[in-house]
Amino acid sequence: MGMKIKKSDYEIRACPRGSGDYGIVRMTGEHRTVEEHEALCEELAKAIRLRCSELLPTYGKNGVLVTHTQTRVCEFCGYIWGEESTVYNGGCCDKDEKHNPELLKEENDS
Ligand SMILES: [Zn+2]
Repeated sequence: MGMKIKKSDYEIRACPRGSGDYGIVRMTGEHRTVEEHEALCEELAKAIRLRCSELLPTYGKNGVLVTHTQTRVCEFCGYIWGEESTVYNGGCCDKDEKHNPELLKEENDS
């Protein structure tokens, strides 16, 4: 065998405790807003920085970062945005269809 797996760039990903997770008790049906989840992630990152400062980089690279994913979706129905246009998503829902440039053109022409 000539090929081997070379491991590198190890990092740690941490996520805060789930909503409804109280340690010894887990409640279902509790949900956080995106803003609440972001704030909790920032709080966790701050706690890691404070408690683990001797293990984090002292200069250059920030040792603890809160990151997120951005997904383009329809503001009305939440469907994945698949069009070049920023106002019309191909008619994913009735409200989006009201921004159909073909229909708007017909309204202006009549
Ligand atoms: Zn839609």
